[in-house]
Amino acid sequence: MENILEIRNLRKFFGDLKALNDVSFEVSRGSICGLLGPNGAGKTTLLRIINGIMVSDGGEALISGRPASLATTGLIGYMPEERGLYDKMTVEDQILYFGQLKGGNRRRLREVMAEYLDLFNLSADRRRKIKELSKGNQQKVQIIATLVHEPELLILDEPFSGFDPINGQLLQELIARLHDRGTTIMLSSHNMPAIEEMCSDIALINHGTLLVKDSIENIKEANKDNSLILTTRSPLSIPALTDTGVVTEVTPTRPLNWRKGYAYRLRKAEGKSNMDLLDAVAYQSDILHFEEALPSLTDIFIRYTSGQQEPDEATTQPNSQPSAQTLSADTYIPQSEQPNSSTPQ
Ligand code: ATP
Repeated sequence: MENILEIRNLRKFFGDLKALNDVSFEVSRGSICGLLGPNGAGKTTLLRIINGIMVSDGGEALISGRPASLATTGLIGYMPEERGLYDKMTVEDQILYFGQLKGGNRRRLREVMAEYLDLFNLSADRRRKIKELSKGNQQKVQIIATLVHEPELLILDEPFSGFDPINGQLLQELIARLHDRGTTIMLSSHNMPAIEEMCSDIALINHGTLLVKDSIENIKEANKDNSLILTTRSPLSIPALTDTGVVTEVTPTRPLNWRKGYAYRLRKAEGKSNMDLLDAVAYQSDILHFEEALPSLTDIFIRYTSGQQEPDEATTQPNSQPSAQTLSADTYIPQSEQPNSSTPQ
């Protein structure tokens, strides 16, 4: 598939600090790509260079094959994390102003604006001043102003922050609609569930270095760690199970269907098969459900970034595989809070 964005050996230094250190990756046209990384990783710096707001110290960023500069900004819609609206302007004047700055045709801008004001339930507010709107509604205006010129590449930095769950849902609907129309979308966010739900790919950076760029599916597959989730009809004796030598870890977790049984995350011992594990569990209880566990995006984020040293101290190669770690137990709930019926449905 054709790439809308090509980042090649990009470098940016602030004094001794390597904010971007030889970053290279591509974003294919029409995809939804998550840009992830801890605070200070270099995401904003990267986005500023892509948008021609900042000049790199080496390498290049190509937008539809053209080097990023002020001349390519019309192809992009960029909503930075720091919002910037003019308090005294009306909603529609503000949106049209930004659209025209990006070279949009006024008649077409009005059509697109009407569609998205309607989607965000803001049509009745279009003649109100920005300062009279709630923070969430100001955020909606900012988003519409970012995309009203129908950019090929839409880049949203923390778009969910400040939104309640209903508006968060509307934003997801908007992103899905743009995706259906072929817009490429880059989302930079610390909201892992939203990224996981919306994105096909992620680029993960830390300390200015790209750690991984691939489809979420491939990354999850590559980071499987012999863990399985299973639900049993009656509680398991964990010591008895670990004594069999078939599993190395057993963690009670939330049942996939809360009404049914007792759920566990188990890690198989080296060389043991799923059948060995099922035999050991079946010795204790009926098995209601069984599946291989894939790490969540949060697990993956933590695995790749935790313990990663500052580049100057690092002894490992960039892009090397993360060391295996225990998956976070974010789904863990204490045994006492699990359904305690002795006759689960
Ligand atoms: P966050 O998730 O907190 O927004 P980020 O991934 O966007 O972080 P950047 O803002 O790109 O990170 O910053 C990367 C590094 O570069 C940080 O250490 C930051 O302090 C530094 N930095 C960014 N801009 C400048 C600047 N103009 N002058 C000096 N240092 C800067």
